[in-house]
Amino acid sequence: MRYIGLDIGGTTIKAGLVNETGQILESRKAPTVTDDLNGFLSNLTELIRDFQKSAAVERIGIGVPGLRSSRTHIVETSPHIRCLNNVNLEDLVADQVHIPVVSENDANAGAYAEFVGASGYGGEFGHTTIHPNGRGCSCGNRGCLETIVSATGIVTTAEEKMKEAPRSLLHEVGGPLTSERIYEIAARGDQTAQAVFVETGECLGIACANLINLLNLEMIVIGGGVLASGDLLLRSATHTAALRSFPSSYRDCQIVQSKLWPDAGVIGAAMLARDR
Ligand SMILES: [Zn+2]
Repeated sequence: MRYIGLDIGGTTIKAGLVNETGQILESRKAPTVTDDLNGFLSNLTELIRDFQKSAAVERIGIGVPGLRSSRTHIVETSPHIRCLNNVNLEDLVADQVHIPVVSENDANAGAYAEFVGASGYGGEFGHTTIHPNGRGCSCGNRGCLETIVSATGIVTTAEEKMKEAPRSLLHEVGGPLTSERIYEIAARGDQTAQAVFVETGECLGIACANLINLLNLEMIVIGGGVLASGDLLLRSATHTAALRSFPSSYRDCQIVQSKLWPDAGVIGAAMLARDR
């Protein structure tokens, strides 16, 4: 049995041909068209057809960023990919490729891959408010968690801090500033760069503490691009989560890095196609 898992991101669609035990046999990718549904579908179905040339595909799973209604299966809102708003992606894709298609919120698909039902509340957690008057977000809100805890958020925080720190090594970065470059400089001992990850981790820790107190979770799996910044961020997040949650609930919960990242979304979508 072969399944296709598709993980739709704001810039790239990642796709994998996956076997029944969740191993990726073949990977492909294509750019995400965000403002034109026909263009979006054409890239997506081309990826699927390429896999179908070499394998008999049983079913397809798609991880979609945004709110997908579990009742109607319609993507109600996708802040980064506006052409998907109010679209039944499952039906549209199935009509074109003639095999069954299931979809799921991308964070839920990733959580499914980790076999951690406890973090199934991933949903649109990135768009919960962490600062009442914070940075503007693509969703139209202000101060969302992902305006801070994301690769872009890390770069913005670094740029803000650089203004106050003329001697920071961050000023010596040639080319565009990225979260990876900022981490390299933090690892060289630059205090300004280190503070970026400590503060980012604090926001993530506050968010984790809220989840722990609300849901008494057994595990929170941290995935995504922020992992490039390694243990500096995770240590700060864990420390803050411990300070801000009920001790008994915190003891019940493990905060861990995703072992499957960056493939969790593709594998999870394929496994949902297998099981649903
Ligand atoms: Zn937002």
